[in-house]
Amino acid sequence: MKNCIFCKIAKGEIPKKFGYQDKDIMVFDDINPLAPIHILIVPKKHIKDFNNMDDSRIWNKMRGVAQVMVAKKGIKNKGYRVVINGGGAQIIDHLHLHITGPLGKSAKM
Ligand code: 5GP
Ligand code: ZN
Repeated sequence: MKNCIFCKIAKGEIPKKFGYQDKDIMVFDDINPLAPIHILIVPKKHIKDFNNMDDSRIWNKMRGVAQVMVAKKGIKNKGYRVVINGGGAQIIDHLHLHITGPLGKSAKM
């Protein structure tokens, strides 16, 4: 999608260090971290938002990558949050999961 910053990152038009990537998914640090670890799990294809997510293969892959990254980042047992902003709460209209941690036991909504 033209003018979508995450599509530009997916196409390599904006250089970005990936914590993980494959043909469908990319993972990178949030530019404005809200916790010591704040990563984004992003499908490379443009999916506008959560309500437009109907690709079960990609959705399942995002879940799997999120689980692996939580473990890899060492926060599996240290308190973490997985967040999707939607319905206008999001800044970027290209679906992504936020993972933040460690949060300890303070991770209450
Ligand atoms: P949203 O509010 O859409 O769920 O969150 C978008 C997130 O993307 C924000 O946390 C913001 O800091 C992050 N972000 C925005 N632009 C960039 C960018 O160019 N690079 C990276 N790594 N993160 C970005
Ligand atoms: Zn996009």
